[in-house]
Amino acid sequence: MTAHAKLGPSGAHRWMLCPASVEMEAQIPDTGIDSPYAVEGTTAHALAEMALANNRDADDYAGVRFNPDLIHVDDDMVEYVQMYLDYVRELGGTRFTEQRVDISRWVPESFGTADNIVFTDDGVMHVIDLKYGKGVPVFAQNNPQGMCYALGALAAYDFLFDIETVRIVIHQPRLDVVSEWDISREDLLAWADNELAPAAQAANAEDAPFNPGDKQCRFCDAKGICRALAEHNLAVACEGFSVVGDPISTKDVKSLAPEEIAGLLPQLDLLTKWAKSVEGHAQGLLELGEDVPGFKLVEGRSVRKWADEDAAGKALSRKLGAKNAFTKKLITITQAEKELGRGDPLIVKHTVKPEGKPTIAPVSDKRRTIEIDVTDGFGEVPDAA
Ligand code: SF4
Repeated sequence: MTAHAKLGPSGAHRWMLCPASVEMEAQIPDTGIDSPYAVEGTTAHALAEMALANNRDADDYAGVRFNPDLIHVDDDMVEYVQMYLDYVRELGGTRFTEQRVDISRWVPESFGTADNIVFTDDGVMHVIDLKYGKGVPVFAQNNPQGMCYALGALAAYDFLFDIETVRIVIHQPRLDVVSEWDISREDLLAWADNELAPAAQAANAEDAPFNPGDKQCRFCDAKGICRALAEHNLAVACEGFSVVGDPISTKDVKSLAPEEIAGLLPQLDLLTKWAKSVEGHAQGLLELGEDVPGFKLVEGRSVRKWADEDAAGKALSRKLGAKNAFTKKLITITQAEKELGRGDPLIVKHTVKPEGKPTIAPVSDKRRTIEIDVTDGFGEVPDAA
């Protein structure tokens, strides 16, 4: 398992906003088991590192399992990691891959590993982070993790290269997002002195304060046991469903006004995640044999499956004929590209990328706004002239 600093860059978005989260997370026992998402991400990073170190493409490692703790490299991973490799290689310059960076000048005993640091002739230091997740888009602007890596890289390489601009890059190939943001070395160093270092001091203090909020609590391991978050969420829920001002009357609560719904929407994600964390924590307690008054463990729903696929296949073939017992499936686009090569005209001709379903997002979201046309489905709103 990779060593982590107590106040590591990957948690800076959390502990900079909620100093108490460091001590709270320390109370959560480490199961030693990584989530499937974490294992998938580690495998993608191992693939990228291996391909860059050996100057190979991702598909040279299709099907490979780098170590028993990781999963096999599958076709999707090949495709997505190749997008990242192409981006990194196109920069040229001098590259350092999987580089440990030290930020203890600002955050005591803190270090991290930058996926790629690239120095180009135009005085730009590119600090590139591969994020293999596909849940939440992460943006480079003011991203504390990327800024911490950049500080560590600056501390290590400032004497070797002329660095005028720092470019933080977050590459999320599964979301088709490459987020870039430039900051001058002076502004980065000013942020470190004025914001990062004081936040680290607050997080290391005794009785560090709590500060519940969406950004910091979303990925906090302590959200299932955190009283500050529970109180915050219950207050939000009560406030959101009440009408400010007069006592609630039957008329008032018939339906929520769009403004009230708009007030609730930004809170829903955190409320949902918090509810799941509390439930998960309660289940953990029951699994340990502890009492959670009024609750017990029961067998969950499950779906039927063939006990032995080979045996069932043979038996059904005898009874129904092989044609009726099995279905044929077309190979995936990635598999076809493996056979014919990326960009093969036949594949291009038969490939479409359907429009994604409309989904709700804050107005600050960088994606284009789509507008429902009641007569003709939906389409993109043209850019303002
Ligand atoms: S759940 Fe939120 S408020 Fe509680 S410790 Fe974590 S970040 Fe802080």
